[in-house]
Amino acid sequence: MPHGSPSCADYGCRLAECLSAARRARSRRRADRAAGLRARVDSEPAADHVARLREAGMSAGDIAARSGVSDTLIRRLLRPDPQRRPRRILRSTQDALLGTAVPVTRTGPAHPA
Ligand SMILES: [Zn+2]
Repeated sequence: MPHGSPSCADYGCRLAECLSAARRARSRRRADRAAGLRARVDSEPAADHVARLREAGMSAGDIAARSGVSDTLIRRLLRPDPQRRPRRILRSTQDALLGTAVPVTRTGPAHPA
């Protein structure tokens, strides 16, 4: 581990260059997190995923209940005309939707016994 890298101080090194590198890394992580909370992302991947959930038999209400995302937003993402869907959504909303697993259907791959 070279001196001057942020994790050097994490391992207990007290050199000034390592302590200041650790301090810089901490404030960068805080700034990234603040930016991430504000960040909006393109809604397309989430809209595609919601459409797959819908095709697998889940209703907009089911998807809302499972993901914690509002029913209204789910319905807007399911609009057939992409122009009428929200263009951008919160990253946290995208993460919640993409984290909702597509239910296994009869046509899906069989689980090994
Ligand atoms: Zn060091």
